[in-house]
Amino acid sequence: DSADFDEEVKSVCPFCGVGCQVSLKVKDGRVKYVDGIDGPANEGRLCVKGRFGFDYIHHPHRLTKPLIRRADAPPKGLNVDPGDWSTHFREASWDEALDFAASGLKGRGREVAGFGSAKCTNEEAYLFQKFIRQGFGHNNVDHCTRLCHASSVAALMENVGSGAVTATFNQIENADVAIVIGANPTENHPVAATYFKQFAKRGGKLIVMDPRGQALKRHATHMLQFRPGADVSMLNAIMHVIVEEGLYDEQYIQAMTENWEAEKAHLANFPPEKMAGICGIDAETLRAVARDFATAKAGMIFWGMGVSQHIHGTDNSRCLISLALMTGHVGRPGTGLHPLRGQNNVQGASDAGLIPMFLPDYQSVTDDGVRSAFSEIWGSGDWSSEKGLTVTEIMDAVHEDKIKAMYILGENPAMSDPDVEHARDALAKLDHLVVQDIFLTETANYADVILPATAFYEKTGTVTNTNRQVQMGRPAVAPPGEAREDWAITTELAKRCGLPWDYTHPREVFAEMKSGMASLNNITWERLEGEGAVTYPSLSPEDPGQAIVFGDRFPRAEGRARFTPASVIPPDETPDADYPMILTTGRQLEHWHTGSMTRRSKVLDAVEPEANCSLHPSTLRKLDVEPGGHVRLTTRRGSIRIMARADRAVAPDMVFVPFAYVEAAANVLTNPAIDPYGKIPEFKFAAVRVEKA
Ligand code: SF4
Repeated sequence: DSADFDEEVKSVCPFCGVGCQVSLKVKDGRVKYVDGIDGPANEGRLCVKGRFGFDYIHHPHRLTKPLIRRADAPPKGLNVDPGDWSTHFREASWDEALDFAASGLKGRGREVAGFGSAKCTNEEAYLFQKFIRQGFGHNNVDHCTRLCHASSVAALMENVGSGAVTATFNQIENADVAIVIGANPTENHPVAATYFKQFAKRGGKLIVMDPRGQALKRHATHMLQFRPGADVSMLNAIMHVIVEEGLYDEQYIQAMTENWEAEKAHLANFPPEKMAGICGIDAETLRAVARDFATAKAGMIFWGMGVSQHIHGTDNSRCLISLALMTGHVGRPGTGLHPLRGQNNVQGASDAGLIPMFLPDYQSVTDDGVRSAFSEIWGSGDWSSEKGLTVTEIMDAVHEDKIKAMYILGENPAMSDPDVEHARDALAKLDHLVVQDIFLTETANYADVILPATAFYEKTGTVTNTNRQVQMGRPAVAPPGEAREDWAITTELAKRCGLPWDYTHPREVFAEMKSGMASLNNITWERLEGEGAVTYPSLSPEDPGQAIVFGDRFPRAEGRARFTPASVIPPDETPDADYPMILTTGRQLEHWHTGSMTRRSKVLDAVEPEANCSLHPSTLRKLDVEPGGHVRLTTRRGSIRIMARADRAVAPDMVFVPFAYVEAAANVLTNPAIDPYGKIPEFKFAAVRVEKA
């Protein structure tokens, strides 16, 4: 009923990488409710977060004024009440806060590092990486892609030549078979999951591979609940069958790939009969899956953090790429490789260069020509050719006294880093921490100055979803108090650090991005304002963009993709007598990442108000704990007390913990060991002791 609202604004959901388009119904300066509209990814659909999770923007904890740490504040620690911070911070004017923020950063070169955000716009991500590179002369800038799909991107860059998906998830409509591995889309990419379920309903073969049971299981032709960490053994066994039974696409392999002979020889070591005991899936099932995938006309592979967050995450993705290549399931309708991206703009922030090894469009920082091209676009700048430090390496460098000041925009490492007490100690050790956010997050507890920013529904800018669709976000309501848009704050900070910046609108930033990013060819601000979304690559000013890429060549030498054989690397830490069970972590439907937004959303918090973990009913019985009772989880890093749920989807020797809850933070427990290529931590496997509490 139009009487319910004064205004209707089209924008994009601020949560996951699906990038659903929304219509925000606004009355009296507040968002009253949200509807899904006909975006290219969602076609009118929304999940519970998109529909009900918007009211955090009106929460009384919103930061409305810049804050500076009081001279008489208690020692830095996780000790600030986000609703009453007055014993730790005092309000300041924007001028005073920005001058103070800049004074602790300016001229400090390599002592400074920055974390940008995958929840900000493309323009804001671009400005953030430019600020660190141009302002401080190095590449120590990163964001949460490091904790998400960094290993997938490493494998895709290595073997396909591009880190983005080769086909939109909606292409599943044209597939005969689809593998979903290490992903739980019903909870984490719910609207994408609706397409997967429809695919199964119309007869598509859905193959789900996951150490945890999950809702897609009900729709699956095969459910492979494999042993945690045994991905490479299982995938190599499937590929072994494809070779042994001659089911590979010889013509495609010869025309489009390299290193096939090495891959084929390597796979000889992985017969399913030998791998069955390791991965916990019987040989006949592995053979059936291999036949189904290889003999389909069109097959797709989707994966999530269950694949990427291992010390062998890059090897996991190498296997998935090899599987798609050997069967010729790339570059045609209904085929493709699709890592389901997490945050609403993690694709765009990575494309914009918010990573320590690449400038925008994945152009290497080690390439002198690339650096001088950006220096020319930027008007000045001469920065290191050395790859920068990643998220967890930056925290290590703080402990080693190499980094002493940080600028953190919209990220919450005090909750999201592995072995989080290590990260919290690092944040406390910094002698200057600038935090820019919409709430006084756990990370802001450690800040010297806090700059109040705008929520997504209060700002203008573009975001890029998991499908490579660049979409226009529009403001529906005014920011509270004196809060400002992130691009404007970074610009003011840059000016005070002596940089010649004069941006007055995100469209100017977008125009500058286009001059250094071929991926944005034919995509203009005006098109995005008019059309709402354009997929990259777009081949002409009229082309809505290419849903499928790499039909005839890959962006690698001679246009060929590569097979990179993957060997089995065990998890960094295996269960033993002291820590006999396996810990795995992740998200749940109602809460988003570290909970700063969704735990302040009335409906979502009402549905899931309490920190919880999942254990098999037989494990609970052994522990003498009733469902809803409490357990203590202890690893070599730390210990938490948490409510336990009975869940048959979890194996009897496993515990699953969502990481959204500060009062029982999963990352107190997690192992910081990293994948050597993607530098992603092993969030999905640690040895843990579970006791009644
Ligand atoms: Fe938002 Fe993702 Fe849900 Fe769509 S699926 S409404 S983008 S959280």
